[in-house]
Amino acid sequence: MIEVNSVRVGYDDVRAVDDVSFAIDDGEGVVLAGANGSGKTTLVRTFNGLVSPDIGTVRVDGTPVHENPAAARQAVSMVFQHPRDGIVAATIGADVAFGPENLGCDRAEIDRRVDRALSAVGLDSRHEDRVDALSGGERARVAIAGALAMEPTHLVLDEPFSGLDEPSRRSLLSHLLELRRDGTSLVIVTHDLRDLGALADRVLVLANGHLMADVPPEDAADPLSKFDVRVPTGWPGSEGGRDSGSLEREPGRSP
Ligand code: ADP
Repeated sequence: MIEVNSVRVGYDDVRAVDDVSFAIDDGEGVVLAGANGSGKTTLVRTFNGLVSPDIGTVRVDGTPVHENPAAARQAVSMVFQHPRDGIVAATIGADVAFGPENLGCDRAEIDRRVDRALSAVGLDSRHEDRVDALSGGERARVAIAGALAMEPTHLVLDEPFSGLDEPSRRSLLSHLLELRRDGTSLVIVTHDLRDLGALADRVLVLANGHLMADVPPEDAADPLSKFDVRVPTGWPGSEGGRDSGSLEREPGRSP
C-alpha cells in the first residue's frame, strides 16, 4: 500500500505538489491525470524517494519512504517517459536481468524473473534480441519488463504512451490490462486517457499541485474536463457509454 499524507513539494518559487493526501491499495489500478505542469511526475517520484516531500509523509507498506528508500524502490517500480534512457544493456534478456542482479538474486532466480517479466509483456523467447533494433513500442515493453522483474507490488508508469504509434499503444494497453488481471497494482500517469477506463478503479485529478478529485472512472469526466484533461469518446459514464474498443474492464472487479 502507498499512503500519501499531507505532502507538499516545492521547487524554488513553485509549489509543485501542495497538501496532497490519498492511499493506493495493493492490486488497485489508478490513473493520475492532470494538465502539463500540474505536479504528476513530482508526486509519483515521492513514492520511492526520488523526490523528498518538504512537508508530509509517504509510506510504502507502512514504512515511511525516507526511513527505508531501498525497500520503497523494491516495492514501487517506476517506468519513466523515454524508455530508451533507461535501457542499460545490449540485449533484452541482459537488460531485464539488470534489476534482479542488483538485488543480489541468484542465477536461477534471475532467470525465473526475466522469463516471467518478458512473458508478461509478450516478449517471450526474445532474450537474445538486440535492444537497439527494437521499435518504440517494444522498447517501452522492455522497460516495463525491467520494472516487473523487480517483482514490485506497485508499478508506476509515467506517460507510457507518449511517442508510441497506434499499434504499439494498443499492444501496450492490452499487456497492462493483463498485468492488472494478474494482480499487479498500476499507477498510470497520463494526459492521454484513451482506453484507460478499462484499467482504472480510480482516477485522481491534479491541478496546480492540488488533488482536485479522487473518484471512480464513471465520475471522472466532469473533474477531468474542468481541469483541462480531454475526456476521450466513450469514457465510462460520459456520453457514448463506457470506454470502447477491444479492451474491456474485468467483470466484477471493483475497488
Ligand atoms: P507534470 O508531471 O504534471 O507535468 P511536474 O511534476 O513535472 O508536472 O511539474 C510540476 C511543476 O513543478 C511545474 O511547474 C514544473 O515546471 C515544476 N518543476 C518540475 N520539476 C522541476 C525541477 N526539477 N526544478 C524546478 N521546477 C520543477
